[in-house]
Amino acid sequence: MSTDSLPQTARPLARPRIGSITLAIVGALYLIAFTNRTFWSRGLAYFDSRLALAAFGLGLTCLFCALTVTLSVKYVLKPLFVFLFFSAAAGSWFMDGFGTIIDVDMIRNAAQTTTSEAGHLVTPAFLLHMAIFGLVPSLLVCWVRIEHRRFYSKLRWNLLAISLLLLVALACGISAARSVAAVTRLHKDMMLTLNPILPIGNAVAFALASEADKNIVARPLGTDAHVAARTPSGKPRVLVIVTGETARAENFSLGGYSRQTNPELSQLDITYFSDTSSCGTATAVSVPCMFSNLTRGGYSHRAGLANENLLDVFGHAGIRTEWWDNNTGSKGVANRTVYKSFSDANDPRYCKDHECLDEGMVAQLDDWLAGVKGDSVLVVHQLGSHGPAYYQRYPAEFAHFTPECRTAELGNCSQEDIVNAYDNTLFYTDHILASIINALKAHQDRVVPAMIYMSDHGESLGEHGLYLHGAPYIVAPSQQTHVPFVLWQGSEMKALADQDCLSLRASKPASHDDLFHTALGLMAIQTSVYEPKLDVLAGCRRGAAS
Ligand SMILES: [Zn+2]
Repeated sequence: MSTDSLPQTARPLARPRIGSITLAIVGALYLIAFTNRTFWSRGLAYFDSRLALAAFGLGLTCLFCALTVTLSVKYVLKPLFVFLFFSAAAGSWFMDGFGTIIDVDMIRNAAQTTTSEAGHLVTPAFLLHMAIFGLVPSLLVCWVRIEHRRFYSKLRWNLLAISLLLLVALACGISAARSVAAVTRLHKDMMLTLNPILPIGNAVAFALASEADKNIVARPLGTDAHVAARTPSGKPRVLVIVTGETARAENFSLGGYSRQTNPELSQLDITYFSDTSSCGTATAVSVPCMFSNLTRGGYSHRAGLANENLLDVFGHAGIRTEWWDNNTGSKGVANRTVYKSFSDANDPRYCKDHECLDEGMVAQLDDWLAGVKGDSVLVVHQLGSHGPAYYQRYPAEFAHFTPECRTAELGNCSQEDIVNAYDNTLFYTDHILASIINALKAHQDRVVPAMIYMSDHGESLGEHGLYLHGAPYIVAPSQQTHVPFVLWQGSEMKALADQDCLSLRASKPASHDDLFHTALGLMAIQTSVYEPKLDVLAGCRRGAAS
C-alpha cells in the first residue's frame, strides 16, 4: 500500500523487514539468553570446566535454533514466538524467583489449584515481569515484516542452516560429552530448568496423561475388611485424620525448633513422630499417596487413580467416612466418600473470597461428634500453611511472631518477616489441632477417639534460594520432605498400647507410608491388605487388639 497520499505527520513508522531464518535465530537466542537465568547459574555451579559449559551452551543453543528454523514457516513463526515468549516469561518468573521446577507433578498441582490460590501468584511484579519478558518481545515480533523465500529456495536455505547448526551442535556435544554426561547425571535438576522447552514439554505430557486418566476405574481394595474387635466399653471408635498443608517439621517446636510454635499441643498428652518423611513435595502427589497402600516407592499418579484407598477399605468394613475440605479438594481420595467443602460454602465468619480459616471446620466438629452412632472416620483437610500468602492463613490474634510478611510477594519481605508469617501459620495450626483434641476429649463419654495429624509436605523459606514447595523428590531439600506427625489417643484407646514402647517408636523414622496401616490398626480393622510393619502402633499394642 502506498503511503504517499498520507499527510507527513500521520506517516506510520516503517516496519523493519527481517528474513525468516534470521528471526528464528534471534528469537531463539533471546529465549536462551534472557529467560534462563536459573539454568545458566546452575550450569556455572555444576560444571568444573568453563570450556565444557561453553561448548554445552553453544551446542544447546544451536539445537534450539535448528528447531525454530525448522518451524520458520509463514503463519507459524509469529504465533509460535508469541507462545514461546509468554511461556518462557511465566517459566522464568517461577524458576528464577522461587526456585520452582516445572515438572509434570508441578503442572498437575497448578491445574488442580483454585482460582483464589492462583490469584496470590498474580502480583504486580509478576505482571510487570510478563510485560517485559513476554509482551514486549511479542509486540516486536508481530511488528516486523518477515521475508519468506519462495518454497524451493526456502527449503534449500533452511536445510543448509539446519545442517550447519546441527553440525556445530554435534561437534560441541562430542567435545564436551564427558562433562555433560557427568553433570546431567549428578544434577538432574539442571536440565529440568531449561526454559521454555521443559515446561512446555511437561505440560504436553500432563495433557496427554490427563486424557488417558479419564478412563481409569479404581480397582477394589480390601473388600474383606471388617472390624475385628469391639472396644472394651462398647462405645464406637472415632478417628479424625487431620491432613495438614505445607507444615514443615523443622519449624515445629515439638521437634526441637527453638521458637515455641506448639504451645498448646505441648501441654497435651500427644505422641510426636520427630523423623517423618512425606511421599511427595506437592499436595497432588502427597495426599493421594498417603491415603493409598502403594507406599512412596510404588506410588504413581496413575496407580493412585487405579486403586481404591484407605477410605474405601473403611467403607468395606462398614465404617462411616467423611471428608471435610478447606483446601483444593481431596485429589480423588474422597471420590467414593461423603465430601463437604468449606471453602465452597464461603461462610463469612471464616472466609473471604473462597479462602477460609481452618477454624470453620473445627466449629462444626462438636455437632458432628454428637451425631456419631457407629465407628466413624473423619478427614479434616486443612489449608494450614499454604503460601505464599502465609499472613492470610491465621486470624490477627495469632500473629504471635512479628513483624510478619503481609504480602504474597515474598521478594518484598525480609527473610525474618517471611519466617515470622510462616511460623504464625504453625502457631495457628497448633491451636486447630489442640481444639480438635479437646473436642474429642469432651465426647469421650460416648466415643473412643483418636487423632492423627500429618502434613502433606513441607516448605522452603529461602534455604538454598528456594521458596514454596514442589521440588522433584530426588533433589528436594529436607525442608520440603520432613513433615510433622502427631498422634493423640483418648484414654480407652491409649490403654490398648504400651505408651513407653510408643514413645520409643516415635523417635525412629516414620513416613506417609505408615498412615494407611496405622489408621486401620487404630480402627481395629482386619483385612488382607493390612501390614503390621507399617502400623506405628503394631509393635506396642497390648493383647490381641490388633
Ligand atoms: Zn500441599
